[in-house]
Parts: sequence; C-alpha cells; structure tokens
Amino acid sequence: MTQQRRWLITGASSGFGAAFVRAALQAGDEVVAGVRRPDSMEDLVRQHPDRLTVVSLDVRDPAQCREAIAHAGRVDVLVNNAGYGIVGAVEESTEEEFRDALEVMFFGALRLTQLVLPQMRERRDGAIVQITSMGGLLAYPGNGAYCAAKGALELASEALAAEVKPLGIRVLIVEPGAFRTGFAGPSLRLSTPLPDYEQTVGVTRARLTQMHGTQAGDPDRAAAAVLQVLNQPDPPLRLALGEDAVSAIREKITTLLEELDQTEALSLATTF
Ligand code: NAP
Repeated sequence: MTQQRRWLITGASSGFGAAFVRAALQAGDEVVAGVRRPDSMEDLVRQHPDRLTVVSLDVRDPAQCREAIAHAGRVDVLVNNAGYGIVGAVEESTEEEFRDALEVMFFGALRLTQLVLPQMRERRDGAIVQITSMGGLLAYPGNGAYCAAKGALELASEALAAEVKPLGIRVLIVEPGAFRTGFAGPSLRLSTPLPDYEQTVGVTRARLTQMHGTQAGDPDRAAAAVLQVLNQPDPPLRLALGEDAVSAIREKITTLLEELDQTEALSLATTF
C-alpha cells in the first residue's frame, strides 16, 4: 500500500465514522468523509484543509455513491461504516423497515465496494473495511432486521475477500460489540411493539435504550485497532471489537458445534 493512504469513510460525521476520520488524519493520511450533512464537518475541515475533504453521501443513493467515488479519485481504504440500530420483533418490523436496513447496511456497502474495486484491481492494491457487528454473526430477539443486513454483508464480504486476495486487495470485516456512539441514542429506530413480545424483544429494547452513553467500547480505541490490523502484512479477515463481542461470538461458535454434534447422525443419514 502507498505510504500516505487516501480513505473514503461513510457515515463519517459521528461515532465510529468520526473516530476513523480522526485516526486516519492522525496517521498522516488523506480522508474523504462521506456524510449526509456536510456542514457537520466544517470545523475539522478548517483544521485539515489539505488532507480532509467532505462529500455528500447518503449510501442509499446510487448517484451520490458514484459521485463520491469520482470526487475521491484514488481510494486506498474504503470504510463502509454508515448504519443505524433498529429493534423490533420480526413480526413487528415492517417490510419497509427490513428493506431500509438492508438498503443502508448491505446494498449501500455493496454499491461502494463495487464502485471502488476497478481502481483497486488496476493498482493491485487497496483495503475494504466492512463495519458489520457481532450481530453479523449472531442475533438476539429484536435484532432480526439489523442482523439480516449485517449478516448479509458478513457473508458477501467473506466471498469477496477470497475473490480479491489474489488481486492484492484486502477485506477486513469489523464486528463491534457495544460502543459509545449515537447508535443506541438518537440514531436508534424502534418498531411498533406488540405486547406478546415484551418478554423477549422488550428486553433487548430496554437494554439498548438504557445503555446509551454508558457502553464500555471506546470508538477511538476501535479505530486505532483497525488501523493496527490494516498495517499488518497478513491481516485476519475478521476483527471482533470489545469483550462483549468476543464472548458472544465464542458462545455462538460453541452453540454451533453443540448443535452439529447433536444432529450429526441425522445429518449424515441423508446421503444416498
Ligand atoms: P452513529 O454515531 O449513529 O453513526 C452512524 C453514522 O451512519 C452517522 O454518521 C449517520 O449519519 C450515518 N448514516 C446512517 N444512515 C446513513 C445513510 N443512509 N447514508 C449515509 N450515512 C448514514 O453510530 P455508530 O455506532 O458510529 O455506527 C457506525 C456503524 O457501526 C454502523 O454501521 C453500526 O451498525 C455499527 N455498529 C455500531 C455498534 C455500536 O455499539 N455503536 C455496534 C456494532 C456495529 P447521520 O448523522 O446523517 O444520521
């Protein structure tokens, strides 16, 4: 990778996105910050007029995605970070809510990935960072729409990583647990509750809304960890962030193994 990298970061105005912007600038790199409200970045642009530019980017809008890539020119690191939390039972969530979650957190990321790949293939260099979630690997009651979007991005990115590795392009899937951002506060969307789901989804809804501002995860430390991994010569495909993410993913793997063991005889008995 070139010495001074050029980043395109989506959802750059707050939370993880803003932390990635700070970390990349701190590392001496150039940043193109994709945001829905460009005025939110004015102060930072004044501090780094030569290395930070801002582009209007709602990742649901294909034209804005194309314009962002054209505006950026060379992109060494694409960070697909834009997203939001949504809580609702599968039955409570409208099809529109599911579609919007996928539009922002799967298709938005996919679109930008596809747009940036030709130049990365040409240079045989580049990195694509997909901010999914521990919810890309496991789901709690109430997280159906969110995890459908994050899980879709996880698996498409796992395939992508194997496709582009021989072409010199790295993919890093980042799976945070709970971090102190706008995620569980102003950004959180809640579906209309049905009383029957109070004991299941209600618990998730209360847990998420009550954790706002007290989450253990520090987004600046998360960004530093991502930069550290990107600087490794042979980085892993996945990076879980936070004690909660590490233990929940371990638990998921254990459950998968137990279920495989329980059903193995039946599974193997299905061959001709
Ligand atoms: P945040 O502070 O709410 O930041 C989310 C960012 O995404 C905001 O800048 C927001 O822009 C942007 N965004 C939302 N919809 C967008 C769209 N359609 N087009 C472009 N930008 C859009 O929350 P965050 O925690 O930093 O979230 C960043 C990513 O981390 C998300 O993908 C989230 O799923 C993931 N994540 C977060 C946590 C956590 O605990 N914080 C855990 C796991 C994964 P506006 O300001 O314009 O709304």
